[in-house]
Amino acid sequence: MAKIGFLGLGEMGAPMASRLLRAGHDLAVWNRSAERTVALAREGAAVASSPAKAAAGADFVITMLATPEALEQVLFGTAGLAPALSPGQVLIDMSTVGPDEVRSVAARMPKGVSLVDAPVRGSLPQATSGHLDIFVGATDENYERVRPILESLGSVRHVGGQGSGAAMKLVANLALGAAIVTLGEALSLGESLHLKRGILLDVLADSPIGPIVAAKRANVESGQFAPTFKLRHAAKDLRLVTEAAAARGRELKQARANRAWLDEAAERGDADLDFSAVVATISGEEPSAYRPRVDKADDDKH
Ligand code: NAP
Repeated sequence: MAKIGFLGLGEMGAPMASRLLRAGHDLAVWNRSAERTVALAREGAAVASSPAKAAAGADFVITMLATPEALEQVLFGTAGLAPALSPGQVLIDMSTVGPDEVRSVAARMPKGVSLVDAPVRGSLPQATSGHLDIFVGATDENYERVRPILESLGSVRHVGGQGSGAAMKLVANLALGAAIVTLGEALSLGESLHLKRGILLDVLADSPIGPIVAAKRANVESGQFAPTFKLRHAAKDLRLVTEAAAARGRELKQARANRAWLDEAAERGDADLDFSAVVATISGEEPSAYRPRVDKADDDKH
C-alpha cells in the first residue's frame, strides 16, 4: 500500500480519493475549500493544510483540479506543491488540462520528480464505482509504477509517453462535445418541424449519438441539469481542443462550432449546470423554464 497525497476534492476528486482510501492506501487530502475535506477525514484521510504539506512523505501525489490555471495555482502558488516535491516522488495529474500544460509543468518539476498524466473518461457514477477509463501518458517504467494505484479507480490504458494521456483526453472530449451539440441541434430541427420531443429521442436513441441520448435523456426530458460534468468544464475542454489544434495548424471547424455553443450556454448563466444544459440553449429554451427561480430577498441573506 502506498502513501498518497490527493489534491482537488470536487465532483470527481472526492469519490476517487474515497476509493483509494478504501483500497487501503494512506491518504493526505487537500482542497482549496477546506469544508470538502471533512467527509474524507471521517473516512480516515489525513487533512493537509496546504498543497506543499500534502507532499510530505508521499510516494505519489495526485491532482484532480478544474483547469490548467487551477493546476498552476496549486503547483506554483503560495505554499505550492511543486517546490515541496523531492526526488523519487511521482506526481500524477488526472485533471483535464491538455498536453501542452502537462509538458510545461513537467519542465518545471524539481530534478528527480516524475510527472505522469492520467486524465479520465467517465463521470460521477464511474468515479464512485471504480470504472473510469484512465488514459496514461508515461514512460514504460513510470507506467508500471502508477498502474497499481490507478487500477483501483478504473481501467488503465497506457497510450504513449508523457502528455499522451492528456492528448487522448482532448480527443475523447472533442467527440463528447460533438455528440451533445448534435443532440441539441437534432432536437431543435425536429421541434421546428413540429415533431414531438419524446419521439425524437426514441429515434435518436438508435442513431450514432445513441449513447449520449441514453446518458442525458432524463436531463433533457425533465429540464433538470444537476451537474455531474459541469458545462464550464466541457467549454474549457473544447477551448483546449481548439487551441491545441490551432497550435498545430489543424482546422477543426466542427469543434469550433461546438465550442461556440458551449460558450454561449456558459455566458447565459449555465456554466455550473450539467453540460447537457447546452441542449436547452440550442433549442432556444428560456432559462426560466429549467433554472430554479432564486428569490431575491432570500438570495440577499447568503
Ligand atoms: P469540480 O467539481 O469543479 O472540482 C474542481 C476542483 O478544482 C475543486 O477541488 C476545486 O476546489 C479545484 N479548484 C478550482 N480552481 C482552483 C484554484 N484556482 N486553486 C485551487 N483549486 C482549485 O470539477 P470535477 O468535475 O471534479 O473535474 C475535475 C477535473 O476532471 C476537470 O479538469 C474536469 O474537466 C475533469 N473531468 C471531469 C469529469 C466529470 O464528469 N465531472 C469527467 C472527466 C474529467 P474548490 O472545491 O475549492 O472549488
